[in-house]
Amino acid sequence: MSAVNEALIRDVVAEVLSRLVTAAPAPAAKSDCGCGGKSAGGAPALRGKFGVFQDANEACAAAHEAFLQLQKGGVAARVKIVDIVKRMAEANAEPWGKLELEETKIGRLDHKIEKLKIIKLVPGVEWLRPDARSGDHGITLEEYTPFGVVGAVTPSTHSIPTLSGNIVNICAAGNAVVFNPHPSAAKCAAVAVRAYNEAIYRETGIENIATIIEKPSMESFAAMCKHEAVRILLVTGGPGVVKAAMQTGKRAICAGPGNPPVYVDDTACMKRAAKAIIQGASYDNNLLCIGEKEVFALEGIADKLMAQMEQNGAVKLTNAQLDALTKAAFTITPGQGGGCGHASVNKDFIGKDPIVLAKAAGVNIPAGTQLLFAETDASHPFVVEEQMMPFIPITRVKSLEEGVKRSLEAEHAYKHTSIIHSHDLEALTTMGRALDTTLFIKNGPCMAGLGLGGEGYLSFSIATPTGEGVSNPRTFTRVRRCVMVDNLRIY
Ligand code: NAD
Repeated sequence: MSAVNEALIRDVVAEVLSRLVTAAPAPAAKSDCGCGGKSAGGAPALRGKFGVFQDANEACAAAHEAFLQLQKGGVAARVKIVDIVKRMAEANAEPWGKLELEETKIGRLDHKIEKLKIIKLVPGVEWLRPDARSGDHGITLEEYTPFGVVGAVTPSTHSIPTLSGNIVNICAAGNAVVFNPHPSAAKCAAVAVRAYNEAIYRETGIENIATIIEKPSMESFAAMCKHEAVRILLVTGGPGVVKAAMQTGKRAICAGPGNPPVYVDDTACMKRAAKAIIQGASYDNNLLCIGEKEVFALEGIADKLMAQMEQNGAVKLTNAQLDALTKAAFTITPGQGGGCGHASVNKDFIGKDPIVLAKAAGVNIPAGTQLLFAETDASHPFVVEEQMMPFIPITRVKSLEEGVKRSLEAEHAYKHTSIIHSHDLEALTTMGRALDTTLFIKNGPCMAGLGLGGEGYLSFSIATPTGEGVSNPRTFTRVRRCVMVDNLRIY
């Protein structure tokens, strides 16, 4: 089918849907009291798209219109939107997980599905409890109020899960959102946005609360960032987009890259540590930004740890197999003046199944193998680069000091995630203080840091360089103070 025909068909479908929606009576927004206020639905030109737009400026304008509708709908409408997104993410986890895997060709279907089922763990409106002060001079209330429209960028590694969690957080706080998704995960993102908007319109009368630019580009990113309705940015991705967002002049909440180190000492339970490392590093073929990426093991226990990893299903590569895999998985640019050069990750290996890596390494692995590993030194590309493959390098260290030093180097001061397996309080404290990462997980897999096996709540956007932490509805609010002088304190 030609591009022209596709575009034509899409427009005809949009028009038909638009008429169907216009013909159906929209449920009244809370304050739709007939007093002459603008009715739900907004300007006719922006209707009937169910959030999916070709043009960035139109997407931003439509989201702004939706923000005004949401204001009228009040807290009840926000609660409804959160509920719809959580319900639909779970109900559609299988088809949407398949769709995302088909489009991106990275990761694992079981985990793509799980990442949508757990959107219910993302916090909602209940997180916006106001703070109050009461004293001799009256009362003061501090409320968490919305900005308006948030401009968001989503990664290829978890497109629909990030988008869904972002809608929950952002709309719970009373905002609308525009997405400029990753181009290689944009089609599945548009399917989810359309479905969410259809349901939200049906149940609340609010249209385009989350809009998306159907064919995202650098230009659409720039237009979104520049649009006057977009008050703040939320970017989830690697170093490039974090830098670009910070240069826009708008406040940017940045969920940036990581390269989480794991330190294991002789007080840890080796079986538990091995199982946790396998669970975290193999999750979605190691696409998680919080996923274990390299291990520093105290030399006295390194062999025991590796033996436990093998006993629990991981496959150890020989030096020759590691060399073959490294040649395939990285492109090494020689350094100047005899330097050691720079390694860049070969994208064809990111998020691929262990069998693909095993083939490149020249090794046969049992069916169902989740993770490969090998012993390396600390300067190996698999240690230094954020590699996102179901492979983990293990490096021996002589002491806690060396383990912490190597971990710091590998983490590149991203301040993202670090992990330790130890029962030595001093080691736990020393590593925690030195790494100073947003997530610091002790004696568990990385996902325990997002409430999966540990305490806490979930988000797929962990604001690391800008410091907001695991994002939640309060991340997307302004704090406003309301003061009553001398009155209303009841003794
Ligand atoms: P990516 O950086 O290639 O892309 C992320 C998004 O940014 C995409 O939408 C992409 O189109 C856009 N983008 C990239 N460069 C840009 C630029 N210069 N200007 C404007 N937009 C730009 O990342 P990816 O491969 O999709 O995702 C993996 C990366 O994201 C990893 O580095 C991972 O650690 C990080 N990540 C971080 C978190 C977090 O919560 N901190 C969550 C998921 C992923």
